[in-house]
Amino acid sequence: MSRKPSQNTALDANASRPGRLRLVATPIGNLEDITVRALRILRESHIVAAEDTRVTGKLLRHFDIDTRLISHHAHSGQEDIIQLITLLTQGNDVALVSDAGTPCISDPGSQLVRAAIDCGIIVEPIPGACAAIAAISASGLPTGQFTFEGFLPRSSDLKERLKALATERRTMIIYESPHRLADTLIDLAEAFGATRQATVAREVTKLHESFVRGTLAECAEHYKAEPPRGECVIIVEGGTGDAPERPDEVAVETLLLDAMRAGKSTKEAAREVANKTGLGRRELYAIALKLQPDGDSEEG
Ligand code: SAM
Repeated sequence: MSRKPSQNTALDANASRPGRLRLVATPIGNLEDITVRALRILRESHIVAAEDTRVTGKLLRHFDIDTRLISHHAHSGQEDIIQLITLLTQGNDVALVSDAGTPCISDPGSQLVRAAIDCGIIVEPIPGACAAIAAISASGLPTGQFTFEGFLPRSSDLKERLKALATERRTMIIYESPHRLADTLIDLAEAFGATRQATVAREVTKLHESFVRGTLAECAEHYKAEPPRGECVIIVEGGTGDAPERPDEVAVETLLLDAMRAGKSTKEAAREVANKTGLGRRELYAIALKLQPDGDSEEG
């Protein structure tokens, strides 16, 4: 591997032309996924602007690169952006990297990119790993058209978002943290119907990479029973374009009664019918309690 003779500095910059902003993708777990071009750009740039200089410092040391590192993260304000734009206009080539994957994809960078474009600076992508694309490619779900949702909103905005997505026909890509994965799968099953197909891609490109494929209800059950570790992407099959129909009351009561007659407790019956219908477990538990002749109660 050829090494540049010395670290590039602002003094080396070619002031007769503005620098270029390069958006350099880095591995999402497997260091072999860095591209030959990414290594060259990181080595030849005057500055690497990193989401976390400690994380990127390790990566650069691994590849024996000693380019000057500065910080550019989600909380960087206008002043930081102006500083980077000034460095670019002075002729410094800047490589922007995030902790992992492609910058600007659920990661910092898009404001800097906008500012650079507005200032006439050339912005170049240096493509490579991206968890969303890696996950959908191996999901087994349709890839012809898809929508990237990033992280779903929390709390009150979540219901609104899921309601809007319930009529989405394209395959959906959702980023999620491991400790929220099972609950989010349950929310998705309630919003889209329990039988919608999904894939959960976990620890992609890492030692414990796994793909769990099944209905939303099956994936939710799997991760409720076995809370995951590591990073995950949820891929959900698109719908028919219609909001899922709510099963009628009699059908729901029949399903609950059948489950209880088969020896299931009210809680178990509620869970089973929730998996079949996508209705909320609490709501079904309340109905099951009313159907129970002796009013058995066992909330949990
Ligand atoms: N910019 C990154 C990219 O290109 O994929 C995404 C950054 S976002 C802050 C981090 C999220 O990406 C994680 O919460 C997880 O949903 C997903 N992710 C990142 N690496 C992953 C991996 N190796 N396996 C599965 N999901 C991953």
